[in-house]
Amino acid sequence: MAPMGDNVVVSNKELEKLLSMKGGKGESSYANNSQAQAIHAKSMLHLLKETLDRVQLNACSDDEIPFVVVDLGCSCGNNTINVVDVIIKHIIKRYEALGFNPPEFSAFFSDLPSNDFNTLFQLLPPFLSNDNGGVSMEECLAANNHRSYFVAGVPGSFYRRLFPARSVDVFHSAFSLHWLSQVPECVVDKRSSAYNKGRVFIHGANENTANAYKKQFQTDLAGFLRARSVEMKRGGSMFLVCLGRTSVDPTDQGGAGLLFGTHFQDAWDDLVHEGLISSSKRDSFNIPVYAPSLQDFKEVVEEDGSFVINKIEVFKGGSPLVVNKPDDAIEVGKAFANSCKSVSGVLVDAFIGDKFSEELFLRVEKRATAHAKVLLEQLQFFHIVASLSFP
Ligand code: SAH
Repeated sequence: MAPMGDNVVVSNKELEKLLSMKGGKGESSYANNSQAQAIHAKSMLHLLKETLDRVQLNACSDDEIPFVVVDLGCSCGNNTINVVDVIIKHIIKRYEALGFNPPEFSAFFSDLPSNDFNTLFQLLPPFLSNDNGGVSMEECLAANNHRSYFVAGVPGSFYRRLFPARSVDVFHSAFSLHWLSQVPECVVDKRSSAYNKGRVFIHGANENTANAYKKQFQTDLAGFLRARSVEMKRGGSMFLVCLGRTSVDPTDQGGAGLLFGTHFQDAWDDLVHEGLISSSKRDSFNIPVYAPSLQDFKEVVEEDGSFVINKIEVFKGGSPLVVNKPDDAIEVGKAFANSCKSVSGVLVDAFIGDKFSEELFLRVEKRATAHAKVLLEQLQFFHIVASLSFP
């Protein structure tokens, strides 16, 4: 990180080196705090399948050409494995319904280089093999708990090229595109009218800060679409889900606003008031997340013009808090803090070190416990869901 006075500017290259969800399998790991995403993904399966029904299949059934599926922003956990499984099974069903033998499948799991690919690879079901090396697709499918596809991990930012031209049939990306490639520089520049003084997120920020975030989101999404429009095979389809908001006003970030703009924000203020960090240290930290409105998202897809829009809609996902006992404020507070930490903990550690980060999340938990009832009632995520085809 390049220090700028008391401020720290994290450029996109640096953020891309740093950002990841909490790896491993511990209490605040992403793998253990992504049940809500799993539930939300499940409720959108019909939309995913509609998108898959639009993918053009290779009718000559040339089994030398693999069918290629990519999950972008796969993170580390079972969600990505489950969704790849759903996609491949659905495509196999379509081939069979047409009376063709399914081709072989390649699945690429892609995320930033700091993602915990090791843990992800260990979660993968084993590939069925025999001593002669040759196993048919039928044998793979008949054997439960086995993989019927070849796998590779692809490290890199989805805002740039990741795959060879015209090589991918299906792109999937869930709960990832709201992560910006960087915090806009003016947001951490004290001389700028977009300086986000006193805040660590844009929820409730001033209009200039919000516009800078919006511009960053739209520039990033445009880069994403440009790269995919080169990589996708003609006739391919793409299913994208990211955090979204229902308000036209970008300073009202909805569920993301409640997650990062209330108890998380107050916990940063606690650290400042207790003299543990300076106020400008706090102000140099910003969560690089933007929950777009339907319009914000659609404008970019239309401007890019490479994809046919099958559907873009706002979808009510539900609460990010999955708890066994909703009346137990302590459990709710813990779930909130873990959920916050699993997605932002790595960034916070990098900014203020493990010790203060630990202090911060203890305060998040305490505050969330005190407001458990309201959190359970009000914390709701909306998603932008886009189904796009490449003609
Ligand atoms: N798709 C998974 C995980 C979502 S978590 C699920 O459904 O549960 C969001 C993921 O997006 C993180 O792993 C994060 O590292 C990744 N991400 C954020 N910005 C990215 C970028 N520019 N390029 C690639 N991955 C990115």
